[in-house]
Amino acid sequence: MFDKFREACGVFGIYGHPEAANLTYLGLYALQHRGQESAGIASSDGTVVRQSRAMGHVSDAFDEATLARLSGRLAIGHVRYSTAGDSKLANAQPIVIDCMHGPLALAHNGNLVNAGELRDALVRQGAIFQTSTDSETVVHLFARSPEATVEGAIVDAISQVRGAFSFVLMTADRVIGVRDPNGFRPLALGRLGEAWVVCSETCAMDLIGATYVRDVEPGEIVVLGAGGVKSIRPFAAAPHAQCVFEHVYFSRPDSYVFGESVNEVRTNLGRRLAQESPVEADVVVPIPDSGVYASIGYAEASGVPMRMGLVRNHYVGRTFIEPQQSIRHFGVRVKLNPVKSVLEGKRVVLIDDSIVRGTTSRKIVRMVRNAGAREVHMRISCPPTISPCFYGVDTPRRSDLIAATHTLEEIRKYLDADSIAYLSHDGLTASVRDGRTRYCTSCYTGVYPVAFPRDEASYLQLALKLNGEAAGARPAVAEVLLDVPELDPVKR
Ligand code: SF4
Repeated sequence: MFDKFREACGVFGIYGHPEAANLTYLGLYALQHRGQESAGIASSDGTVVRQSRAMGHVSDAFDEATLARLSGRLAIGHVRYSTAGDSKLANAQPIVIDCMHGPLALAHNGNLVNAGELRDALVRQGAIFQTSTDSETVVHLFARSPEATVEGAIVDAISQVRGAFSFVLMTADRVIGVRDPNGFRPLALGRLGEAWVVCSETCAMDLIGATYVRDVEPGEIVVLGAGGVKSIRPFAAAPHAQCVFEHVYFSRPDSYVFGESVNEVRTNLGRRLAQESPVEADVVVPIPDSGVYASIGYAEASGVPMRMGLVRNHYVGRTFIEPQQSIRHFGVRVKLNPVKSVLEGKRVVLIDDSIVRGTTSRKIVRMVRNAGAREVHMRISCPPTISPCFYGVDTPRRSDLIAATHTLEEIRKYLDADSIAYLSHDGLTASVRDGRTRYCTSCYTGVYPVAFPRDEASYLQLALKLNGEAAGARPAVAEVLLDVPELDPVKR
């Protein structure tokens, strides 16, 4: 909730519905947790592509008049939290262009690991970039493709990028979903009457009454057009590397992601955590909202009752007037408040899904102690986070990850907990289907399934927007290079 990895983006597309833009708006509304900095929708009436983008939340970005202007039976949308490129309107998506292949709108979830080198080459050839995003390289490659057909040009462009990408694209008469060959980020296919839907998570389908049909497979392109759904697989096969953190934290628990219920996986993580790291205790308390589902599993497997010993204020705005020094830990306190009747005199198991820097966890442990808890035992429903992500997730540099630089005992002391335990890597991979062979766990292992040039690593690391840091306060290149771990080759 405060000291967390952040998801990069959510994407949505619909083909063949008279209210395409309105339904895209609702889809983005359901995907708001995947990005809160900007939102955009592009629509097509079969000839003309129109778009609207704005900074801020979906509900602020569109009004009825704007949606009415976005006419047509095709639409795609995007919510963004920047991992590559600054937070500004020019970088909001969908990116819309017109070229010799016709109009194209693009919405991207992920990170392209070779975007820097592609961009340099394109600029040398005279390309003029309008944004500082990695995603824009794809539309330049599309526009320059010598392929004769639109689909051929799309395949040609996407074949040249590497890394994590779930794209939703729109031409004048088609909506196209693309998932990278490793399948890092999710993309689901659904049906709404005669219309077809592609989106990051199934919770977006639920809101508009669509039915989840299946996932777009890693390496698959689905073309939604007048002939229905066409599936093509133009890329070379690659080891699957679905982001396990989608299940641990990012995705909504009411979604199906990578074909599995997030709620069930998250509860399972808690059950396994209880089996691996039991403790004599009186009450299991989740850190809301992220620790709730793992807590349910932990309580169920341990037999220790779960109570809501921390209450979250859901109505905290992004800014508030903070007192100078008079209230200690005000930032945490304004969002979370302890329930003394649950905590007083109790041995508490405090459950969260992850620890990034540890600063917020430390404040919460103190808060629980100050509310009268006799013992506080920290349990984390994933392994220690030791490496940054280069595949579309906002992470701090390695030196800021507490588990990368401290032993378990040092972390326990820092948090002021009576004990601490993380879920094992085996416990994590056993909690998802084909966890050992189909999932990326790089932020827990430092072993990266898709390698990238070392200077690209520094480029991406620099591009990560460190939580709360002004651009001027970001680390220098030399410092970042020291922090980027040596990249291991694929070990699968
Ligand atoms: S490194 Fe971690 S956050 Fe990034 S894709 Fe892999 S599992 Fe997900």
